[in-house]
Amino acid sequence: MKVLKVIFTLALVLAAASAKNYKNHKVVTFKIDNDEQLKELQELERNSGVTFLEPPEAVNSKLAIVIQSDLFGMFEEIATATNLSFKVTSDDLQKIIDSEKPKKQPKAALDHDRYYTLEEMEEFMTEMAAAHRSASVFNVGRTTEGRTIKGIKIATDMSNPAIFIEANIHAREWISSATALWIIETVLTSTDPESREIFDGITWYIVPVTNPDGFAYTHDEVNGDRLWRKTKSIHNIFCMGVDPNRNFGYNWMMGGSSALPCSTTYAGPSAFSEPETRALMDYYETVPNKMLYLCFHSAAQMIIYPLGHTMETTDVPNVEDLDTIAEAAAVALKAVHDTDYIYGNGYRILYQTSGSSRDHAYGHFKTPLVFTYEMREGPENIFILPPDQIIANSEEILASLVAIIQTGKTLGYFNANL
Ligand SMILES: [Zn+2]
Repeated sequence: MKVLKVIFTLALVLAAASAKNYKNHKVVTFKIDNDEQLKELQELERNSGVTFLEPPEAVNSKLAIVIQSDLFGMFEEIATATNLSFKVTSDDLQKIIDSEKPKKQPKAALDHDRYYTLEEMEEFMTEMAAAHRSASVFNVGRTTEGRTIKGIKIATDMSNPAIFIEANIHAREWISSATALWIIETVLTSTDPESREIFDGITWYIVPVTNPDGFAYTHDEVNGDRLWRKTKSIHNIFCMGVDPNRNFGYNWMMGGSSALPCSTTYAGPSAFSEPETRALMDYYETVPNKMLYLCFHSAAQMIIYPLGHTMETTDVPNVEDLDTIAEAAAVALKAVHDTDYIYGNGYRILYQTSGSSRDHAYGHFKTPLVFTYEMREGPENIFILPPDQIIANSEEILASLVAIIQTGKTLGYFNANL
């Protein structure tokens, strides 16, 4: 077994000898309309060098692929033969990735006009905690590669209801952690009296980067891959990592997740096989007065409530409240910058999932209110969002979060001293 593990590691190290470059790679988006198209695309995923950003799993799902220019003819043939209409949203993905790179050196205060590295974010949290008495940095636990998952807690009165925000569990979804940082700063520094009253009535737990190994890999310009989504654990000789948001225990492997290690939605060899997911829920268990759990993702412009593997609401006793609150959140969000979001059950509006942190927080820990945000889509219809949209995205998300609190209060949630 030991020898095998060494070989596994060696193979993966060799495979990752240089950073992935996406020069002359097109981004193509489409919707799967029928079973014939689905079958052809599944075949394409298995037998070609085409990168599917999400696996082709169901009719009616929207997908994006990244494809080398010289393989594009093959894709076009399949599209013509099956009447699949598609859109090429970029002819050179590397150009888009290069345009995200930092333009200037970091400084003490954040400008929120570029995407920061893990180290910069941790430094920011440490500085914020040093400058504000209500804030402290906490450790969630350790990752496969030995990094520490860090969060920030903001508390004025521990009897207040708690909001827990988890971001960037999918490594490549950078806007999710950028938004979490902006929210941390705003909650700590806002001087608007009405906002202050709302913010101070909550105990905040915010984990900007829940998957630090994967996130560092997306930033690694020497050996990394900007499109990496999973953890960095090694369970297989050919493919690294597990989709952490299919690895939580509640209803693990009940549909919409894969048993194949090379799939982008690989659920892992067992529930909680990943130290990141285990540590997150071990920490969450200790949080008092659990009221709202938020999962920050991108990009589909949606507010999603449980459960992910079924459209049935038998196990979602307060589904009407969740629906009312999600609607208010989407309305408040649109009012800021006119961005359209839809809301609803995840299986109904996006695709089937199981083993997500959202469903675990709701189903296992009975957190009353739980939502996933799928944030803004970029110009190529994928998760790469130009950094000049970080602030606008953050503003509308926070406005909708305030609407969740306010609407929640009218429905009897968010009372202190639970
Ligand atoms: Zn995601």
